[in-house]
Amino acid sequence: MSDSETLSDTTQSAHPDFLHSFNDADADIIVRSSDDIEFRLYKVVLAKASPIFKALSASTQQTGDGDQSAAAFPEGLPVITVSEDGQIFENLMRLCYPVEQPHFDRLDDAAGVMEAAKKYGMTPVLVRMKDSLMSFIEREPLRIFALAYRWRLEDVARKAATQFLGHSLRSLPPSMPAEFHHLLIPSDTYYNLQAYHRRCMDFAVSHTVSLEWVLSVRGHKVKKAFRKGGKPWLDVSSSWIWFSCKSRDCEVDRTGIAITMGECKGTFRPKVWWMDYIRRARQELENRPVGRAVKGPAMLEPSLRKAGNCLTCGPAAYQDLMEFSELLAARVDESSAQVNTIRMNDVPV
Ligand SMILES: [Zn+2]
Repeated sequence: MSDSETLSDTTQSAHPDFLHSFNDADADIIVRSSDDIEFRLYKVVLAKASPIFKALSASTQQTGDGDQSAAAFPEGLPVITVSEDGQIFENLMRLCYPVEQPHFDRLDDAAGVMEAAKKYGMTPVLVRMKDSLMSFIEREPLRIFALAYRWRLEDVARKAATQFLGHSLRSLPPSMPAEFHHLLIPSDTYYNLQAYHRRCMDFAVSHTVSLEWVLSVRGHKVKKAFRKGGKPWLDVSSSWIWFSCKSRDCEVDRTGIAITMGECKGTFRPKVWWMDYIRRARQELENRPVGRAVKGPAMLEPSLRKAGNCLTCGPAAYQDLMEFSELLAARVDESSAQVNTIRMNDVPV
């Protein structure tokens, strides 16, 4: 941090960079942390930031009649001692003062500041912590959910629940994150989060099981569906390449897709390489029901390699499969958005 680099060599503090931003000569109150770091602050800022500090600083007014000990007023300033350590208190003050905002490398540090903000009635500080929480949401969605739930940051809690879908239930730790215990989150909330994950998974997987929608996407519609020689017949000549390829050397999937279109009911057989993609996408969605799970080179490449063996499929496979994977991903995310996330019950304060 640049604060420490610009600090005078004559400063005596063991934590000089803490004091640099909070060491004004005309300060009118000192706050001392649990590890004896002193912050020279302005009462008016503390009072604006926290009703608790407003009351505390009022109660430490020097009376002028000598009834306060000299130790309580070093440099003639009243002192408030807090139970937070200097690091937490410095970050708390950074969220109240017009100075550089805090950066948190560890979620525990952010959680400590939020706990302190709640304790001192600093509701705006809790809201200002949203961005800091969001920076951990991808790695720690459950812990972020618990913190956001506890401090009533509903939008962050919902984003954390959505982000949780990107993590497999199989990779969950054996016990729930400690925050659910010590932040007094209702006991069924952790279970409800997992139920939400499973509901989204059911919807996501359904898009790879019932595949009729693939034939009705705009621009890839089946031209006609009719009966030909007593059999259902679909004109897919302008559809996706895995449907329209007529090469006899291009292997078709024997399982096929059940189609009901007008009077036509039957099984339609796309090319094997595309069904391979669908099966791999399904496996991914069974773990992580998020759209991004079915996109990207790692998902597409094995099927594109197989498609390259067909002179008809090869040139068109990349564009069609890219477009299709985007459509499938959007469908997955849209269906998850329809699933209700967790209801934000009251948490005892
Ligand atoms: Zn082909």
